Amino acid sequence: MTSTLCQFGQFCISKDCPFQHSYSFKLEDYQPPKQPRMTIDLPCYLAEWKYLERAILNIKTIEDLQKYMASIFTNEKDKREKKICIKTFPSFKNLNEKEKNIVQNELIPLCKEMIINHQNILLPPPVILYKEGKVMFTRKQSLCVISCLLFGLYSIKLRKDERKFNGYSQFPFFLFCEDSVSITMTQCIIHYFHLIFKEVSNDKFMNEIIEIERHSSQLSLKELLNSNKKIIPGDVDNIHGIMEINETENLKADFANKYIGGGVLHGGCVQEEIMFMECPEMFVSMITNPVMDDQTTILFKNIIRYVKLEGYGRRIKFSKEFEQLISNNIVALDALVAYVNPSEQYNERQTIRELNKIFSGVKCLSEEDHLIPFISGKWGCGVFGGDWRYKYLLQTIICSFVERPFIFTSFHDNEAQSEIEQFKTKIENDNPSIHDFILWLTSFCSNHENLPYLLTSPTIPTASHPFKPQEENNNKCTIV
Ligand SMILES: [Zn+2]
Repeated sequence: MTSTLCQFGQFCISKDCPFQHSYSFKLEDYQPPKQPRMTIDLPCYLAEWKYLERAILNIKTIEDLQKYMASIFTNEKDKREKKICIKTFPSFKNLNEKEKNIVQNELIPLCKEMIINHQNILLPPPVILYKEGKVMFTRKQSLCVISCLLFGLYSIKLRKDERKFNGYSQFPFFLFCEDSVSITMTQCIIHYFHLIFKEVSNDKFMNEIIEIERHSSQLSLKELLNSNKKIIPGDVDNIHGIMEINETENLKADFANKYIGGGVLHGGCVQEEIMFMECPEMFVSMITNPVMDDQTTILFKNIIRYVKLEGYGRRIKFSKEFEQLISNNIVALDALVAYVNPSEQYNERQTIRELNKIFSGVKCLSEEDHLIPFISGKWGCGVFGGDWRYKYLLQTIICSFVERPFIFTSFHDNEAQSEIEQFKTKIENDNPSIHDFILWLTSFCSNHENLPYLLTSPTIPTASHPFKPQEENNNKCTIV
């Protein structure tokens, strides 16, 4: 037994701590409750839960929180070798006084309350959606899960089938980084807690239900190819981003990674990651949803956008809190990665895969909600390298097929706006059938030189001038 005092003091969480404590450190043996199969892990299933609980109860200040985090993330070997480093969170460096006050007076007490009572709040433990199904959380329950994530309680023991999940064990690591994404993420979480803190005694609000549904639909290709329904071109919005469009009822696209949340916990910062940062309740899906297959989409209902960010990637920055909390339906659909072999995205296999994925995404609301518009945009066209014209048409085809209005956000891309407007003008009031349009599209894309003219070609069929394969052949490469 060494006589050195433990540097983590009352925030030490190590059951077998080799150092001395100024109080009786050893707790009575704790038998963790048996973890039900198929449900999310709860901190109380951890062998060291009682030690964690005691340490968390002791946290009162930001400095305490830093010590506690250090005691969690210093490994046993470093502890033995006394390579212990308790430092201020780099991501806290630029916080203003107001934000620091929020951490100390709102975030810490709220997290403590949620974590200490998690067994009651998350009762019964929510199930994991290994197949189709729905899991419901109240806002309070999702707050509880986010608190546990933030305090590193999902970092200690990993789920056995870790490979099927996004790395949610990485959750609090952004606190230890100083890049602009980590700093912004820290601010988003702090402001989320601030807004929730104001509402915490509002039972109506805290009991609102967030639904996370895992959908898997198989598109009948035969039915699609033979459909005589009309192609209804999606509208273009060149000003607003997807989250800026405030239709009271909506279905917004999350350009997801097949591992829901994408790179949000390791510095990623494009559409999906920004959505998660602005709507932290979406983090719950990372624990409840394993990787998506080609037919699967994940629908979120009643998701609040708490904060607004500006920019993306390294230029991301926190903008403001929302005074009015508006909820959204969001559907996560992952596109194929196209940048390796861009020309393959037009082949039959990849096209069917994408059509099916969009179908699964736009079908996920019930039939009576068919007037609710699907708000999407350049899905899979950023880092994934997809062709936005092709993706616009695939989304238009499926939305026409399921008869859901479609809004395409081109976000300050004047060229895209103008091409879509031309396409709309051409076929509006003289709309071709889905059957005819797909025949044309397949033929047209077989010549890759045609691709820039997907939306502006004079050969685009209409009801009065249906697709003629011959004409198409004669027209190749002559379109300017
Ligand atoms: Zn200790």
